[in-house]
Amino acid sequence: MSLSPQTYWAEHARVGDRLRPGVLIASGPDGRVTELRTDLPGPPPGAVALRGLTLPGTANAHSHAFHRALRGRGQGGRGVPDTFWTWREGMYRIADRLTPDAYRDLAVGVYAEMALAGITCVGEFHYLHHAPGGVRYNEPNIMAVALREAAAEAGIRLVLLDTCYLAAGFGRPPEGPQLRFADADADAWAERVSELRPGPDGGIGAAVHSVRAVPADQLDPVVRWARDHDTPLHVHLSEQPAENEECLAATGLTPTRLLADHGVLGPRTTAVHATHPTPGDIDLLGGSGTGVCLCPTTEQDLADGIGPAADLVAAGCPLSLGSDSHAVIDLFEEARAVEMHERLRTGTRGCFTADDLLTAACAGGWAALGMPEGGRIAVGAPADLITIDPESPRTAGVPMGEGAEPAVFAARAADVRHTVVAGRHVVRDGVHQRVPGAARRLAAAVTALVD
Ligand SMILES: [Zn+2]
Repeated sequence: MSLSPQTYWAEHARVGDRLRPGVLIASGPDGRVTELRTDLPGPPPGAVALRGLTLPGTANAHSHAFHRALRGRGQGGRGVPDTFWTWREGMYRIADRLTPDAYRDLAVGVYAEMALAGITCVGEFHYLHHAPGGVRYNEPNIMAVALREAAAEAGIRLVLLDTCYLAAGFGRPPEGPQLRFADADADAWAERVSELRPGPDGGIGAAVHSVRAVPADQLDPVVRWARDHDTPLHVHLSEQPAENEECLAATGLTPTRLLADHGVLGPRTTAVHATHPTPGDIDLLGGSGTGVCLCPTTEQDLADGIGPAADLVAAGCPLSLGSDSHAVIDLFEEARAVEMHERLRTGTRGCFTADDLLTAACAGGWAALGMPEGGRIAVGAPADLITIDPESPRTAGVPMGEGAEPAVFAARAADVRHTVVAGRHVVRDGVHQRVPGAARRLAAAVTALVD
């Protein structure tokens, strides 16, 4: 179903950092806001009413769509020790089964779930490139194309962060399912990714899987590619203590120091997780203006640990948020968890304001994905809007403030009533307009993959 841009009247909308009543939001064929008017007592003729609290569309800056198939499975317990590394074995089993068609089916459901949760833009950290055994498909980017088609069907923007993955660990070649992730070297990665062109509703970026998966002498072609194409550059960083220990043993450097020495850090770069940095690492990240994408629900699910969020921000790191493994898809919960983890870590409340956290979910995520104009309601900005119900059982009675408090400290993804992407009404009254029966479709795609 194709939808065309419409004009909306929001009962309450957060414009800039203020909540305004009766906001008319018109957009042009390019999906950007062309007109904003406030204090209109009701919807003008032809405008679609968004009853509730309208905010900018949120950006999910870190996603691996296929991890969604693992939700609710393999939770450990019953005397069986479970860690990030044992969870990874299950993830590899799913990775090994995916075909381009199966991945498209699954990703349609995952991205539809994101639209229903108020996510209008996703950064897909994409490393499942090749057929089993590492054999190249005839169309070498067929998996990326499948993800793009899925996002288009689900009606959200996708920034494809094509990920360089070359090794199983320091000095170890890829093995088993990892062969599907690996190009021959970073130049081969660059050659393949150069064949991809930005799509109409989303761009492209580069990623280094991690210091484990990309040898230091292979980092430069990826950094150069991102610079030459003026794209974001993302990298998993210090999610687990074992990564730090292996990197120190192999190179004598922390992962952050190694990335700094090879020109990976800087304002176009986003470090994902940064859960276990040293004080020196925090200085390097902040001093270089490197962004940090926190994924708190995944970090708690995988027992990663609690990262030093406030220290990273104080050092100068812009903050964004991601749902990563999709144990949960709810950017409000991610935002809230940043503060809750900080409270647990420091024994202090109020480390971040609701405004700080909503900015991380909105403008911070858009900026990390190379679109600094997004994540705000303003003329010229992408016409991406979400409306939450301020009178649900969860949000009822919560002070509206400037709109950030109910979103961050009370709402859940289930409170999203409307999602508008590029002026198109993708979710209306809680129903996805393009993917009817989104939950059923997601269940079928997961069941087809999992025993
Ligand atoms: Zn990740």
